[in-house]
Amino acid sequence: MDRRLFLQLLATGGALGAAPASVLAAEQTSRGVTRHPAPGDEGSLPLSSRESLLAELEELQAATQARRRRYCHLTQPDWPDGAKIAVNFTFDVDHVLSRTANDEPPMQVAKGEFGGRVGAWRSLELLERHGIVGTFFTPGRSVDLYPAVLREIAERGHEFADHMWEHYVPADPVVQRDHMLRTRDVLTELTGRPPVGTRSSYPDALVLEMGYIYNSHGFASPLPFKVRRDGKELLNLSVHLAIDDAMYFNYGWIGSAASAQRLSDQDLVLDIWWQAFQQQYEAGGYLNIALHPFIIGHSARIAMLDELITRMKSLPGVWFASSEDVARHCLALPSEAFACNEE
Ligand SMILES: [Zn+2]
Repeated sequence: MDRRLFLQLLATGGALGAAPASVLAAEQTSRGVTRHPAPGDEGSLPLSSRESLLAELEELQAATQARRRRYCHLTQPDWPDGAKIAVNFTFDVDHVLSRTANDEPPMQVAKGEFGGRVGAWRSLELLERHGIVGTFFTPGRSVDLYPAVLREIAERGHEFADHMWEHYVPADPVVQRDHMLRTRDVLTELTGRPPVGTRSSYPDALVLEMGYIYNSHGFASPLPFKVRRDGKELLNLSVHLAIDDAMYFNYGWIGSAASAQRLSDQDLVLDIWWQAFQQQYEAGGYLNIALHPFIIGHSARIAMLDELITRMKSLPGVWFASSEDVARHCLALPSEAFACNEE
């Protein structure tokens, strides 16, 4: 019997030697042909295989429990002034770097250039028009490539946070640390104060060592959550790929390694995001809208975002905040505000 099916059987409460017919009937041979069980076929697994599979199951259960224990989910956000929802507009300023890191063809790189030269300005103008403070997750190298717009964004008081050095996390821990330090130094110089957050997959211990108070990279919960590892906790400002412009609009040029062609109707995206906002508004939640100036910066999409913000502002109790503000608020809450999985 296939190991996955066997584990599935155990996990769903079936006993050894008494496999439900539905499970056995679904069993496939390695050539993909359904093999119907012969009478007396059940329970034919040799003892040693049973023991190793049971040991594997125990291992899986222990790993699942350890993973559950790692998370503390925010359940009582108590947003300032009785707000019903906190909304973060977060911009990943990877522009051309994402494309060059993946060795993509010139037209892909040009798409990234658009972000630095046009999209970032339009994103800034939109935030300013609505009086909203955004968070710009910025690879350190982007500051060299697009200094004018990033200086302007910094001068307007928007938050800058780490987004790696060249939009990838190196495997070597020594180089990881070097990249984090470089980006921290560049962003500190840009804004006059050290950044306090990151959007990356650097190890949590290193993120905390850099003095960062949050990461914004995980999907474990609609609300912010804490991740516990090695006796330390790191706050995560959750994102969701359904609320990410790249999932709808990031198309790949011929020869690009991009895995999908996406050119969605912006009205459809507006509907999806507005419904997501309304659901979180009613639930008393959080929405982190992940954007990329090279994607959202096209005029029709900026108009869509404009409409979304206008609708949000028509409702009372919406807290438009930077990621830093949300993080500091969450970290100041009493521990009872988070539900930690102990079992
Ligand atoms: Zn990015």
